[in-house]
Amino acid sequence: NKFVAIKGHINGAPSESDFEIKTETISLPAIRNTSKEYYVIVKNLYVSVDPYQLNRMKAQSSSQSAISFAAPIIPGHAIDTYGVGRVVESGGRSDLAKDELVAGLLTWGEYTVIAAEEEGIRLLNKLDADEALPLSHYVGTLGFSGLTAYGGFYKVCKPKKGESVFVSAASGSVGSLVGQYAKLFGCHVVGCAGTQQKVDLLKEKLGFDDAFNYKDETDLNSALKRYFPKGIDMYFDNVGGEMLEAAIGNMNTFGRVAVCGAISEYTGGGRGASLDMLDVVYKRITIQGFLAADYLNCYSDFISTTTDHLRNGKMHALSDIYHGVETVPLAFIGLFRGHNIGKMIVQIAN
Ligand code: NDP
Repeated sequence: NKFVAIKGHINGAPSESDFEIKTETISLPAIRNTSKEYYVIVKNLYVSVDPYQLNRMKAQSSSQSAISFAAPIIPGHAIDTYGVGRVVESGGRSDLAKDELVAGLLTWGEYTVIAAEEEGIRLLNKLDADEALPLSHYVGTLGFSGLTAYGGFYKVCKPKKGESVFVSAASGSVGSLVGQYAKLFGCHVVGCAGTQQKVDLLKEKLGFDDAFNYKDETDLNSALKRYFPKGIDMYFDNVGGEMLEAAIGNMNTFGRVAVCGAISEYTGGGRGASLDMLDVVYKRITIQGFLAADYLNCYSDFISTTTDHLRNGKMHALSDIYHGVETVPLAFIGLFRGHNIGKMIVQIAN
């Protein structure tokens, strides 16, 4: 099995030299297949690369130790990730049989040996994929990015028709879906992204009312005043930092901020947001952090609604697909350089 590992902890922006490709021999730990543990070997087909993984690669991940999926990544070891694969060995168990398609916790490698179920917790599920849609959709749009966008927009932003929404990293995996859900719901949507090509795509393909390149703006506060002359009702924050400060300054009374992520702060170069809390008080703004996993109870609604929208062309799933396990570091690094449009995915095998 070929897999990707970090050579050491990464502090700052990642580069290719931080990673190595290792090989190992794998086998099923047969004696572990008891009633409580249930190991399978999966051939990885599509794996996700995600910004939050960088936070797990840092030397000290002080605030993350209590959350298992945010556990530190250990140099030299396999790196877990969300993905789609096919079972190649199931230790005789029939619930995840050989050749079954599965989605769940895989690794940045060719194969994953995993306890599909551990102490009653399911880490891998049978995937009932819609054959009319590409399988890669189940890593992003119909996977965790989609659930993040769906739960974050409908449950955290609590939208009302006609309200205004601002989305940052709007051409990315989560952002591009938030903007599309918000348009279908009947909101006025403006997004920001890091290139003119991305801005054009938001307006021309995804139906955003407006969009701008944040790198062209010298003053984010006045840019937002220009794009939201009547103020922002909801801000879906993917980036944190100065953009969050500017958005708070332009929020309307009783505005909501869904704090999804803070990618501008992950590489350590930018400073963290310094919020005008008095402004938050006077305007009675709600600022709420959330995790996709908080909305697993919406999963079936999310899948059926989104699948319908994709099938009838009301939504577009954007993916940026790299090929081969060796390209995982490049794909991952690309997230912090704005290389991707839509969900960054690596196809490991056919
Ligand atoms: P994206 O597909 O949006 O990819 C990352 C994008 O972020 C890049 O393409 C780039 O686009 C933008 N970016 C990179 N660096 C910066 C920077 N310094 N300032 C502003 N923008 C930057 O990733 P995801 O959709 O997977 O994730 C988006 C956010 O959502 C992240 O913060 C992530 O951590 C968070 N997240 C949170 C989840 C949750 O459960 N709360 C689940 C999944 C993701 P551009 O060209 O526009 O700069």
